[in-house]
Parts: sequence; C-alpha cells; structure tokens
Amino acid sequence: MFRINENYLKLPGSYLFSTIGKKVAAYQAQHPEKSIIRLGIGDVTQPLAPAIIEALHGAVEEMGHAETFHGYAPDLGYEFLRNAIAKNDYADRGCDIAADEIFVSDGAKCDSGNIQEIFGLDNKIAVCDPVYPVYVDSNVMAGRTGTYDPKTEMWSDVIYMPCREENDFAPELPRETPDLIYLCFPNNPTGSTITKDQLQEWVDYANKVGAVIIYDAAYEAYISEENVPHTIFECRGARTCAIELKSFSKNAGFTGTRLGYTVIPKDLKCGDVSLHSLWARRHGTKYNGAPYIVQRAGEAVYSEAGKTQLKQQVAYYMNNAKTILNGLREAGFSVSGGVNAPYIWLKTPDQMSSWEFFDYLLENAGVVGTPGSGFGPSGEGYFRLTAFGSYENSVAALERIKKL
Ligand code: PLP
Repeated sequence: MFRINENYLKLPGSYLFSTIGKKVAAYQAQHPEKSIIRLGIGDVTQPLAPAIIEALHGAVEEMGHAETFHGYAPDLGYEFLRNAIAKNDYADRGCDIAADEIFVSDGAKCDSGNIQEIFGLDNKIAVCDPVYPVYVDSNVMAGRTGTYDPKTEMWSDVIYMPCREENDFAPELPRETPDLIYLCFPNNPTGSTITKDQLQEWVDYANKVGAVIIYDAAYEAYISEENVPHTIFECRGARTCAIELKSFSKNAGFTGTRLGYTVIPKDLKCGDVSLHSLWARRHGTKYNGAPYIVQRAGEAVYSEAGKTQLKQQVAYYMNNAKTILNGLREAGFSVSGGVNAPYIWLKTPDQMSSWEFFDYLLENAGVVGTPGSGFGPSGEGYFRLTAFGSYENSVAALERIKKL
C-alpha cells in the first residue's frame, strides 16, 4: 500500500494568490459594474522585447531542419548561454564565476524549491521574514521545519529573521546558528536591499559558522543604487559559502517563457563533497527544463539590442514604481521599497491588519494588492503593491487611493 508524503499536509491554508483570486472573483460577481485595477501579482505585463522575439523565430526555424535540429539540451545548459551569463553577469562585474559553474534551468522558482534536496534533513534553515514563500514551503514539504503554530504562523524549526521598519527591512545575524540561510535581495515583497558591506558581513558569518547562503537575485535588474550588490559573488569568500539563484522572468519578461539559472561554485564543499557535483545529479529541470529555443532567447537578452530594449522595459516599470511610491508618500502613507525593486511596501494605516486593508482597498478603491502577512508573520500590518502593471493603471490606482 502506498503512502503519501505527509509533510504536504502540514502546509497551512490555501495559497496566498488563490485566496486573493477568490476574494476578487466574489467581489466582481457582486459588483459587475466596478472596474478593478490589479497591482497584486508579481507578474510582468510588457511583451517580450523585439530582440528576444527575433531569436525565438530564428531558433524555431533551426528546429525545422535536420542540420540545425536540437534534441536534449546538454546537462548544464548550452554553452552559448552559459558563456553569455558568465561574461555579462559575472566577469563584467569583476566576479570569478566560470561558465561550468552555471546550471541553466526553467526558472528560479523550481531551483529555489529543489535546491534544498541536496542538503540533509537535519539542516536548520533561516529565512528573512517576510519573504517569497517558496523557501519555507519547499522545506515544509521536505520535513525540515518542525511543527506549525497557527497562532504565531511560525514553524518550530525555522529561524525567522524579522525585516521590519525598525531594522530598515534588513535582517540581522540570527542568535541561533543556522545551516542554510536564504537571502533575497532586492527583496520580494518589501523591495528592500542591503549594501555590499552588509552582504559581506553575511558571507563572513556563513564562512565562520559553516553555513550555506542561498542567495536569490531574481530582481537584480532593478537595482539603481551604487552600493547595492548585483550578485553575492561581488563579496570576498562567497565562492566557499554561496549558491545564487537567478531568473529571466523579471528582467526580460520570461514569466511564461521560463528561463533561469543557478550558480554553484566548485569551491563550495561539505568535507570532500562538492555541492556542484550533487546539483549535477538534480532531477526536474535537467534536460527538459529549458528548451534550445528558449536558451537562444536567453542569449538575446545579452545582445546589444536586447540589453538596450530590456533597460527600457525595466525603466518603464521603475517609473511606475516611482509614481506609486511618491504618490502614496504625498498622500500621507508610510511607504518603502520601489527604488531598487518593482515592489512598494506600504504600512497599513490605522493599524489595519494586512487582510483588513486588502478588503478595504478592494471595496473602496477597486484596487487589488497583496497582503504582507502572506509572506510571513513580520509582514503583518504591511501591504505590497507592484509596479508591473501599465503606467496608466498605476496612475489610476493612485488617484483612487488618494481619494480614500
Ligand atoms: N524568486 C523570487 C524572489 C520571486 O519573487 C520569484 C517570482 O515571483 C521567483 C524567484 C520566481 O522566478 P521564476 O519566474 O524564474 O520561477
């Protein structure tokens, strides 16, 4: 008789965005005449840039001819893409990462969920709170997080590193020593960042205590400030303690096309065993995760035309962010983020809970955002708005919120 993985049953409630979807659908059914502006989900809205479309067409054409047809992709991904990544994302920033330390995948979500599989179940994880929920959820499914307390909304065996107004939304070194440290900067949902000096402290700490940092740099393209690192490998000593996750979703619009990569330096070892060799055995994204066509599209991200076009796309979203951030500030809201990230983090007024503010905003302004509490207990009392909509919708949402 088969048995299920009972850890899945421990996952509390329904997924944040399905709850939001249900609430919005119910509101719409009751008020079919009302228009709704969605600034909730972290999905991009701009179409793929022309340079990427051209590369996709070219690769599709190649697949139709015996001489240029491609079957299974190589293990780590095609060399043309890994070379482009190694040069543009690392060498040009003075970082020592070789093309064969890069594993191409179908996106950072799979990698951020699957990466925990190369670690033993007795590792203790530390997470920023609030943060992208996949890190905790995938460790829950693996059975690494202990028991859930519905009152505090915390797991007994997870080290939470609160990121709130008091510490400028940057985590402090934890009192209890973790084995795996998940850091995500620019952060989803707070939009906050840490400086290179601050990240260096984390790298030094991880090397000292023998921990691994899993660094999610999905929003790196949105960094506008000089002292904010684009990759953890800008820090000294990161090669012996860090894994980096990257996505093509937010910088190049690949949320539906799917492409990402993970960097595991060969110096990252547990005794004699290199983690690189363990991840080489991974399942899921190996072979079939990132098709040839998509990897060619990824290569175009690094072409001169691609870079110029994508810079404009990021600038478009960041203009939305600036408009929302400044507009809300002028209207008297307490807001942060939105400078190095496409997320604006709003402190709910009048001590409303995150979900109370969600309902209030939906019912009175027809604007949908994301309750901060959905990203962890320290997100309670906060609310996330994204800059990924159109400029017109960003302005319209702001006008409605100002009238509240
Ligand atoms: N990492 C973070 C921090 C994210 O916010 C997201 C998506 O919202 C992802 C990873 C997922 O990226 P991908 O689309 O490449 O799976």
